[in-house]
Amino acid sequence: MKVLLLGGTGEARALAEILATTDEVTTSLAGRVADPRLPVGRVRIGGFGGVDGLSSALAQFDVVVDATHPFAKTISANAVTACALRGVPLLRFERPGWADRTRDSWHWTPSHDDAAAVAARLGRRPFLTVGRQEIARFIPVLRDHATLARVVQVPDGPVPPSWRVVTSRGPYALAGELELMREHAADVLITKDSGGDFTWPKMEAAEQLGIPVVLVARPARTADVPTVSDIDDAVAWVRALSTMSR
Ligand code: NAP
Repeated sequence: MKVLLLGGTGEARALAEILATTDEVTTSLAGRVADPRLPVGRVRIGGFGGVDGLSSALAQFDVVVDATHPFAKTISANAVTACALRGVPLLRFERPGWADRTRDSWHWTPSHDDAAAVAARLGRRPFLTVGRQEIARFIPVLRDHATLARVVQVPDGPVPPSWRVVTSRGPYALAGELELMREHAADVLITKDSGGDFTWPKMEAAEQLGIPVVLVARPARTADVPTVSDIDDAVAWVRALSTMSR
């Protein structure tokens, strides 16, 4: 099977590694990070050019697995439309969110702008972990807060003088998260509901330190796409199609 794997997540890399043993896998990355962690198999980098571009690219593939980040809603929506147009089977892989682990000290918000407003009320020294692309939305509200922003790659624009930016890439361990939050004297953690275990230790650290957490809820998704949250299930889906096509 020629599999187009829409990637940019650790799970997509794990999936590529397994599928590449039996199928021809091409992982597609958006090209947001200068030195991405590359998966096993073929890799293409950069946008397709909307639904039309993706739809044309699908001529080369038998199936699509969308394993992009839960907040990457545009590419997922494009995949739904393009696959429907082309009649190409599409599977959505999405890691479980954190809603079922929710705590009393968590403040769920529907958007990044709401998260900024809530965090500004809750603390003076936020630990901001929403990713480089969203940082600009927090600057107007948290301009005068002593914010520690953690990103994989430095943001494009300037940040306020009261802010400190640290660059690093997960996964993170609890001890390190505790040390970082203590060292900054963080009094509120801001995150999106990325889910999974990769970045979970910051949530545990916040709880141990008695710090409130502001979470941005996941964007809504198209309901009628087969969706799995387990890598083995995604592999089984591809292999079942492969068997049927023989
Ligand atoms: P997005 O808003 O859904 O997509 C914006 C545009 O970027 C898409 O229309 C598409 O351009 C291009 N694109 C996105 N993912 C692509 C992929 N895997 N391959 C080829 N083109 C892609 O996405 P985003 O939130 O900017 O995220 C970009 C990438 O970073 C995703 O692959 C995602 O898995 C990864 N990521 C995102 C987050 C996050 O918080 N959003 C966190 C970690 C990793 P065209 O329309 O030109 O095709």
